Amino acid sequence: MQLLESLGEMSYDKAIEVLKRYKQSLRTLKTREVAIVILENGDVYRIPGTPEGVNISGLKGQLKNAFVTHNHLPEPTSFTFSFDDFGGFEKYGIHTLRGADIRYAYELTRGFEAVPSKLSFDLSHYDVGLKAYEVGIAYRRWKID
Ligand SMILES: [Zn+2]
Repeated sequence: MQLLESLGEMSYDKAIEVLKRYKQSLRTLKTREVAIVILENGDVYRIPGTPEGVNISGLKGQLKNAFVTHNHLPEPTSFTFSFDDFGGFEKYGIHTLRGADIRYAYELTRGFEAVPSKLSFDLSHYDVGLKAYEVGIAYRRWKID
């Protein structure tokens, strides 16, 4: 775990800007997952993981209202959040969790109102959307170039 920078005072806009800044370098990683975590106090951490996942529990107790992004490797990915991603978001009270792979970026957030998931043939994507809506969390996914 590495402290990258301290933003000082935190805001939603500032946190999203930082997540975007690191996204590009994360989503092209081919050997392991890496998470970028912005704590409520503005500290930004980089946490290296394995090909299977990244464990942010080293920061537990500080993750409430944190903004987190991480990459999924090209293989295997379901092009959305894993069961563990969803569980961690709930357990730690994370404000916004993003993920990115070679094709999509996706987000779970408490910053917007949850909307019902549209039926999709992409079942993993549909499942995450449904589960999020059921517990009042906003979920969205978008294509990236
Ligand atoms: Zn993940």
